[in-house]
Amino acid sequence: MRPAFTVCVYCGSRPGLTSAFAGVARQVGNWIGQHGGQLVYGGGKSGLMGLLADAALQAGAQVVGVIPKALVEKEWAHRGCSELHIVDTMHERKRMMAERADAFLALPGGIGTLEEFFEVWTWRQLGYHDKPIGLLNIAGYYDKLLAFLDSAVEQQFMGTWQMDLIRSGSDPSTLLRELVQAAGLTHTPQLDEI
Ligand code: AMP
Repeated sequence: MRPAFTVCVYCGSRPGLTSAFAGVARQVGNWIGQHGGQLVYGGGKSGLMGLLADAALQAGAQVVGVIPKALVEKEWAHRGCSELHIVDTMHERKRMMAERADAFLALPGGIGTLEEFFEVWTWRQLGYHDKPIGLLNIAGYYDKLLAFLDSAVEQQFMGTWQMDLIRSGSDPSTLLRELVQAAGLTHTPQLDEI
């Protein structure tokens, strides 16, 4: 069956300090599966990436993993994905992930996550795509980043319109629902029940 929507999720290849991060990765995977969606992610089994994919698979989502061959060992490619694409380069990975997505969501993570989030955001401001972008701010993880971005607006290196291209929030269901709606996609019947 064709998925109702496809969300590309960026998140840490490590689990992070608090169990809140693991919890939210599972919630996001679960939500996508319960709402008839498809997950596109980096194809790894480590850290939040693995927890997210396992939860999505368990909830019945189609899971598309895209991993560069150089990272197959390092990030433990997730062989349980519905589709696992082993690609030549990081650029190819990011392009395929972006092309397959209806919306993007970043969870807590390190430089890889941040780089991917900023890349789709800059692509959006340049008009390369018009897909919604979310930042899930769990346990205040992104508070300082958001404060810094506000200061970049104050210092006139950014406009408020650029900030308006991303949505941040701390509730996974609310943010996911907003992203799917902003992508103009039809909801599955369960969408408003959960
Ligand atoms: P991290 O948030 O650093 O744990 O990385 C999360 C994911 O981002 C991993 O799958 C990394 O392979 C990926 N990633 C994407 N672009 C980069 C990059 N330029 N540097 C490091 N990791 C990256």
